[in-house]
Amino acid sequence: MTVFLETPQLASRWCQQQRQRGLSIGYVATMGALHAGHLSLVHRSVSENDRTCVSIFINPLQFNNPDDIEKYPRLMEDDIAMLAPVGCNMVYTGSLQTFFPEHAAAQHIATKIIRDTEGRGLPDKIIQGLEAVYRPGHLEGVKAIVERLFQTVAKCRAYFGEKDFQQTLLVQQIAAAGGQVEIVVCPTSREPSGLAMSSRNQRLSAPGKTAAAVIYQALVAARRGWLSGNHNPASLEQIMREQVCDAAVTLEYAAVRDPDNWSADTPSSELNNARALIAAYVEGVRLIDNLALTQH
Ligand code: AMP
Repeated sequence: MTVFLETPQLASRWCQQQRQRGLSIGYVATMGALHAGHLSLVHRSVSENDRTCVSIFINPLQFNNPDDIEKYPRLMEDDIAMLAPVGCNMVYTGSLQTFFPEHAAAQHIATKIIRDTEGRGLPDKIIQGLEAVYRPGHLEGVKAIVERLFQTVAKCRAYFGEKDFQQTLLVQQIAAAGGQVEIVVCPTSREPSGLAMSSRNQRLSAPGKTAAAVIYQALVAARRGWLSGNHNPASLEQIMREQVCDAAVTLEYAAVRDPDNWSADTPSSELNNARALIAAYVEGVRLIDNLALTQH
């Protein structure tokens, strides 16, 4: 049976009760509109923990574009129906007011929360470049909510998708600072075309989805380049840009970074470890994806 709880306070109490019974907790944070990628995280959590909980909250703090949050799919009932059969024990949600009760009375609650979060310092290295540049405020908004989500669930294993790569770096820093949460990074689930599964794909037409597969093809081309001995980041970026020549796909960035030594800009020297990352617009929908270039 899946319990549905409407506030983080109730969720926190539920998690405490499980721990008092000696049960371990796995946790998956989502914004809903669930797909097989989300469910792969839930499956992993169910297989590694006694209890699994999922949060569904479209966090307004992490949207820098009002149109994006307005069009974000909202499917709470369908989501809960998908979670029950895969062994999720508890689903919870909340509002900015219930996640941040100390600011509930504030007139501009989002501004107040972000100011408060920034006051505690941002993990500066990860907040540099790519998503930080193209979605100003996004990672700060993620940080604010993830800190609160982790405080709510407390001691647990938390499962995050590699698809949101800078987010995984950020949540690892948050978890390390809090000392209660162990982060498990999970592989990206893809459509047969290679397109990374995303809630945003629901907004694409069939031809749009077909065109969007070029994002993955460009990442694979970079990996091919890497495996053939090209370890030059700028040259690998050029390979990706050349692949994305479909008029339906507008590239925002095609970047190569050292995941162990994150930098705002493209590294100028050859790398030993590398990840290719792309953000692109298809039919007005912003999609991101990335791929490890190094074979481990
Ligand atoms: P979201 O609902 O988009 O915030 O995603 C919730 C979690 O699911 C995040 O940890 C994402 O990285 C992860 N996720 C999203 N898409 C995928 C995917 N295609 N494969 C694996 N994990 C994913």
